Amino acid sequence: MNIILLGPPGAGKGTQAQKLVAERNMVQLSTGDMLRAARTSGTEMGKKVAAVMDAGNLVTDEIVIGLIREQLENGAEGGFIFDGFPRTLAQADALDALLSEMGQGLDHVIELQVNDEVLVERILGRAADTVAAGGAARADDNAESLKVRLLAYYKQTSPLIGYYYAKGDLQSVDGLASMDDVAASISKALG
Ligand code: AMP
Repeated sequence: MNIILLGPPGAGKGTQAQKLVAERNMVQLSTGDMLRAARTSGTEMGKKVAAVMDAGNLVTDEIVIGLIREQLENGAEGGFIFDGFPRTLAQADALDALLSEMGQGLDHVIELQVNDEVLVERILGRAADTVAAGGAARADDNAESLKVRLLAYYKQTSPLIGYYYAKGDLQSVDGLASMDDVAASISKALG
């Protein structure tokens, strides 16, 4: 079973993906995590995307599609969870093509619905909590980048909701419920 978790930054995609990994033996493919890892390890690609990410803009389709292609080659017995990918229609098309090359497809697209004010509070709260705990907040978890990330979401990613709805793949859950209730709604949607 291959699924997409769709929703704006801060909607809880990563948290829910980790639960699915633990409960269903699925493999989480987070392009955000892959890009952050590339930066930490100082690869050429990591250096190239750093400023774009910090500002809150999307990195190129070519780069993220390349990252996903590499990971798909490893396979996943319990299926893949796409977290933060696709974020553009071009990425959605590429994913379709990559999965069909493997003789697979998408089984569910789960949209985590949240309201924008709560999102902003959540993300800025996440940064403040990390700093209070002595950690370093994500460079893009600040008010300025967040605005750019939200704009990128509405401009480039939110059309995917209509796209997957029209294809008949979309299921929406209330992302503002408690973490466990969201997990339960997702489980129900996945059957
Ligand atoms: P995330 O951890 O999913 O919020 O991603 C953090 C940042 O990585 C985003 O703000 C983008 O700059 C970049 N990024 C992650 N996934 C993608 C993607 N699928 N397409 C383009 N940029 C991405």
